[in-house]
Amino acid sequence: MSAILEVNHLTKRYRNGRGVEDVSFEVAEGEVFGLVGANGAGKTTLLKLLTGLLRPDCGTVRIAGHDIAEQFEQAMERVGCLIETADACGHLTAYEHLKLAARFYPSLPASRIGEALEQAGLAARAKERVAGFSLGMKQRLGLALALLAKPKLVLLDEPSNGLDVQGMIDLRQTVVRLAREEGTAFLLSSHLIHDLSLMVTRTGIMEEGRLIGMADPRRLEEQGTTLEAYAVSQ
Ligand code: ATP
Repeated sequence: MSAILEVNHLTKRYRNGRGVEDVSFEVAEGEVFGLVGANGAGKTTLLKLLTGLLRPDCGTVRIAGHDIAEQFEQAMERVGCLIETADACGHLTAYEHLKLAARFYPSLPASRIGEALEQAGLAARAKERVAGFSLGMKQRLGLALALLAKPKLVLLDEPSNGLDVQGMIDLRQTVVRLAREEGTAFLLSSHLIHDLSLMVTRTGIMEEGRLIGMADPRRLEEQGTTLEAYAVSQ
């Protein structure tokens, strides 16, 4: 499988010296790649760098072969993302949010809105105003927006934030199914190993801005050990 995402020596230091330090990894088509690390480890910063929301001090990001610094539009064409909870307009319904977003993709068939709502477990509440949504429902809306244009790569920052148990099961099923059946690649961050263990193929471990190793999360779960103990040096 070829790499849909290639990250090389990515570095971003905030003024306080923290951020992301010399991170390199690849995600293959159809792969579900997890990113774990404690609060402040640098996961959100990394995801922001991958989507161009932040500029790196150095290093490169290539998506589907396109460098995001040089060919941003081509690189982002097939990327969906949920970074922090979706910024929703309370007076609009979930369906209306997707309808608005769909205007950016003129070639998208109208049926895609219903499919994305279904994939995010939102179909039953699509006609409700978002003002009444819980955090978990807003996360589902964010997921529906991320999936709308049938992306080849989906970046999700703490997607299970606020989800109830059923929401987590739905999220896992959607991620695993899209990866297997459509070859969609996912990069998901979480500070909960269990949250990732049932859906990812590989996990990168972040600590103080660095990717300190890779691990198979199932092994971590089985043996109930700490992340660091299983970090395999790259
Ligand atoms: P969390 O799960 O708490 O969001 P995280 O792993 O996503 O954690 P980041 O939010 O990327 O981590 O933060 C990495 C480090 O950079 C932290 O020490 C954080 O305090 C710092 N940081 C994040 N954003 C900024 C900013 N805008 N200015 C200065 N420091 C920042």
